[in-house]
Amino acid sequence: MFILCTNDDGYLAPGIGILADAARSLGEVHVVAPDREQSATSHSLTMHFPLRARKVRDGVHHVDGTPTDCVALAVGALLERRPDLVVSGINHGPNMGEDVLYSGTVAGAMEATILGIPAIAVSYAGREAEHMASYAGLLETLLPQLVRAGEFPRETLLNINLPPIPASEVRGVQVTRLARRVYLDSLTKALDPNGKPYFWIGGGEVEWNAPEGTDFHAINTGHVSVTPLHLDLTNHALLADVAAWDLRV
Ligand code: MN
Repeated sequence: MFILCTNDDGYLAPGIGILADAARSLGEVHVVAPDREQSATSHSLTMHFPLRARKVRDGVHHVDGTPTDCVALAVGALLERRPDLVVSGINHGPNMGEDVLYSGTVAGAMEATILGIPAIAVSYAGREAEHMASYAGLLETLLPQLVRAGEFPRETLLNINLPPIPASEVRGVQVTRLARRVYLDSLTKALDPNGKPYFWIGGGEVEWNAPEGTDFHAINTGHVSVTPLHLDLTNHALLADVAAWDLRV
């Protein structure tokens, strides 16, 4: 099996090393990752300036773009053959609930899914990466099971979150749906040294609506969370209702 490994924290982040090593239990791994942190870049594609890829060593390239750029360049140009699987992560931080809409890590996997390649995103749901390295063995055990079971349905990727505890204390794996998250006071308005207002997005308090069966609940109870994500955002249940509005122009 030939595996492409990417992330959004940059090719030097500890997380991508752990994931690439775990993926080597499945076959040959080639890393193509951003040359710097690209977290929360979502699914952005660089179209208005050229991209450069640099070979760091055999099997490792970095790109001066987003995770989506990395997957596009890897599959379209850098790799000698099409990967059988794309893994993205391990992200330094959680990607649960609405996070998946902003996440560069999930977007890297999503780009692979769009290209018709099975893809898995992996995130460590802690602020500090202190227990991340302990997940090497757990991922070596889990990834082959996902791939073997992984006659992935079309347009679907798997989003994995690891709880912020040592891997030896994990209570099991739960298959989950996305929780709902609300950020409070995460927009700061202040004045710059010239007295002009600026805005800063980030920080604040996070509240979760996370009943049993959601990714956040699984993580909070010491489980690895596996969420199948579908790319089709259509609200199929609402199609008939909206059609009944009888819209005219
Ligand atoms: Mn990140």
